[in-house]
Amino acid sequence: KPIVAVVGRPNVGKSTLFNKLVGKRIAIVEDTPGVTRDRIYAEGEWLNKYYTLIDTGGIEPESEDIILSQMRTQAELAMDMSHVILFVVDGKVGLTNDDREVAQMLRRTKKPVLLVVNKVDNKDKSEHFYDFYELGFGDPIEISASIGLGIGDLLDEIVDKFPEGLDTEY
Ligand code: GDP
Repeated sequence: KPIVAVVGRPNVGKSTLFNKLVGKRIAIVEDTPGVTRDRIYAEGEWLNKYYTLIDTGGIEPESEDIILSQMRTQAELAMDMSHVILFVVDGKVGLTNDDREVAQMLRRTKKPVLLVVNKVDNKDKSEHFYDFYELGFGDPIEISASIGLGIGDLLDEIVDKFPEGLDTEY
């Protein structure tokens, strides 16, 4: 199945988006019980196409250099393991240096990266929308993971990026 990974600096809403994409019916499985949460897998579905979602780990906001190394690990796991990467940024806060760090790492992959601007909770564009073009991943896709706005359009784009020849049957 196609694998979709969610990456981004802490607090942009990765877990919220992950849970929104998974829906309620499908169990979330952790592959490393105990220690620090590493990877969470879940199954997602859109228009009868099934895919695997991975959350490459929550980042505990400690010191800035720990955050940086965890973001780097997260981006590397995503680039290794997934077919489509969702790079999440915060439309309320705008572009930050940590976003630029994540972008710099993701630029090394040839895999499709969708730039997702979260926390756009109404019909208006984020006031920071055009700043995100600097990251180099094309047109940002605006969503509100908590309210559920823009999720259908995002899923259309995700499914569109699935590589040919992968099984998307249940
Ligand atoms: P993560 O650290 O990237 O996984 O971020 P979380 O999913 O834990 O979310 C961080 C904070 O942002 C939480 O307080 C969420 O409730 C909030 N949040 C997530 N998505 C949205 C959204 O679409 N709109 C708003 N206003 N807040 C959101």
